[in-house]
Amino acid sequence: MKKAKDILNINNIARAIVALAIVLVFIAVALVLTRNVVGGSSDDEYRSIVVVASGDTLSKLLTDQGFSNAQVLEIAKVLKADADITSLRAESDKIEFVRAEENAPISKIVIVPSPWRQIEVTCNENGQWQCETIDIKPDTRVTYRQGEILDGDSFYLAGARAGIPDGILAEVYDLLAFEMDFERDVRAGQKFSVLYEENFANGKKVDNGRILAVQFEALRGNVKMYRFKKADGKTGYYDENGNGAIKSLKRTPINNARVTSSFSNSRKHPVLGYTRAHKGVDFRASTGTPIPAAGAGRVVARGYNNGHGNYVKIRHNASYETLYAHMSRFAKGVVVGTNVKQGQTIGYVGSTGLSTGPHLHYEIIKDGKHVNPMTVKLPAISNLDKKDKEQFLKYRQVLDDGIEHLSKHPEWFIQL
Ligand SMILES: [Zn+2]
Repeated sequence: MKKAKDILNINNIARAIVALAIVLVFIAVALVLTRNVVGGSSDDEYRSIVVVASGDTLSKLLTDQGFSNAQVLEIAKVLKADADITSLRAESDKIEFVRAEENAPISKIVIVPSPWRQIEVTCNENGQWQCETIDIKPDTRVTYRQGEILDGDSFYLAGARAGIPDGILAEVYDLLAFEMDFERDVRAGQKFSVLYEENFANGKKVDNGRILAVQFEALRGNVKMYRFKKADGKTGYYDENGNGAIKSLKRTPINNARVTSSFSNSRKHPVLGYTRAHKGVDFRASTGTPIPAAGAGRVVARGYNNGHGNYVKIRHNASYETLYAHMSRFAKGVVVGTNVKQGQTIGYVGSTGLSTGPHLHYEIIKDGKHVNPMTVKLPAISNLDKKDKEQFLKYRQVLDDGIEHLSKHPEWFIQL
C-alpha cells in the first residue's frame, strides 16, 4: 500500500527513471538466463539445463547424466518423500544439473515443476542426497485495460479487442452480471475497464492474478466494483460506496445466454396459445449446457410436472427461492436436501415439459411471490462494518489513483 502511494506520487521524470531501471534489470536477467540455458560456466559452477521431452523419465535423464542405478533410486526416493515428485511433465518441466566445474560430478539437481516452485536436490559430503523446496514469490504487476462497445459488438468481442485476456474477461462478466443485465444494458458507445494483476517470474509473464477493479458505463448508471480484504482476512468485491457487490443470487445463471422471453404478467404462451403470466425468464442454450445454482442454498424440490418438465427448486434463505425448469437431466448427487454452492451445476438444459425448444426457464421467488429476476434488488452476501468501510474508502482511493494514472499510460503498470 505504502509503496503504491510512493510510486503514484512521484513525478514523471522519476517514473521514467524507475521504468528504465526496471528494463535494465530485465535485460540483465535475460542475459544471465540465456547464458545458463546454453550450458556454460558461471563464476563458480557449471550448469546444464534439460527441458523434459516426451518419453523422458526421471531415471532416464539421470542415467544419461552418468548416475548409477543405486544413485538414481536414492534421488527418486528423496524427491518422492520430500517434494512429492514422482514424475516429470514433458514440455513444461525443466531439470538443471550443477557441477562445481565442467568435469566434476553433479553436486546439485534443480527441478522446476512450476514457475512458483523450485526443488533443489543436493549431495552432501557423505554422498547422501537431500531435497529442499523453494517457493518463488511472483513479481505482481497491476495492469489496466479499457474497451468500448461498438455497433453490433458483444461484450466479449469488445473485451478481446481491448486486449483483456479471456480468463479475466470471463471473470469480469461474472462480476458485472450481479449488477447488470448484459442483454439489455449493453449499447454501442459504452466504455468499460478492468484493473488486474499479472504475475511475472524472471521478467517473463507467467499468468494472470486477481481482478482489483472493474467498471462499466451501463444504461442504468456507472457500475464500479473493487476487490477489498476486510480486517478478518476475507476478500470480496464492493461498489464505490462499500456495499457488497457479490449478490446472494445471480440474475442470469447461465453466462452469455440470450434472453428469449422476459418476465411478464401476461404473455401469449408459445405452446398453449392463450395468454398467461410468464413467471420467469427464458435463456436460450443448447441441450446439455450445465445449469449452475444462482446462489448457495438447499434443494427443496426435484421432480417433473407437465409445465416445467424436469425442474429443481432451491431455497436460499428465509425469503428467496429459485426454480430451474425444462432440464434434460439432473446433475448427479443433486436430490432434495442437497446443499449446493453458488455456481454448482444442478442440472442440464433441455426441453422437457411445455417447451418449444431447449432453454432454461428461471424463476426467482421472494417471500412466496414471483419477482422479475432482471430487475429485483438482490441482497448482498456481505457488507462492510464501519471500520472496514473507512479502510475500504482509503484503499479505493489508491486504486482510483492507479486507474487514473494507468488510463493515461496504458503501457505502464503499478505495484501495490
Ligand atoms: Zn419460461
